[in-house]
Amino acid sequence: MVFDLKEVFERDGAAKTVSFELAISDIELDSGYPFSTPAQVTATASNKTGIVRLYLDVSFVYNRPCDRCMKELTTTMEYSFEHRLIASLCGDDDGDYIETPDFSLELDELVLSDILLELPLKFLCDEDCKGLCPTCGHDLNEGDCSCDKRTIDPRLEALKQLLD
Ligand SMILES: [Zn+2]
Ligand SMILES: [Zn+2]
Repeated sequence: MVFDLKEVFERDGAAKTVSFELAISDIELDSGYPFSTPAQVTATASNKTGIVRLYLDVSFVYNRPCDRCMKELTTTMEYSFEHRLIASLCGDDDGDYIETPDFSLELDELVLSDILLELPLKFLCDEDCKGLCPTCGHDLNEGDCSCDKRTIDPRLEALKQLLD
């Protein structure tokens, strides 16, 4: 989606909104496809006293297994992003702007990189998820298993003695 921003840049007080769907379901992350539906995107650009800002509201369905118990989770994520747009960079700059020299902006890539940067690194079904038993793989959220949790790997036992 190319966002034409000429009229927004040219007039103080102008604003423009576009809504579109961004196809993201073919994106692979951590050897899975976490996006089962397109992302719904609403982009608004507004000019206030000559300063043009872009507001992005994004929502999408996110599927990913819990990092501890591997249970498949489906969550609707809603994010908002804000960017400052300028027609061209003049002089040195801190780089916190998006340059739009021909008053148009390709939104797909921008939205996608915003989403990927914002996704949580850790994803748990619950803060207190107990995870899986390292011995038998039983989901410890569903109750204890019969494995002896005190069993220590002999190599770790040797290390423990060294550290004591
Ligand atoms: Zn879990
Ligand atoms: Zn077990």
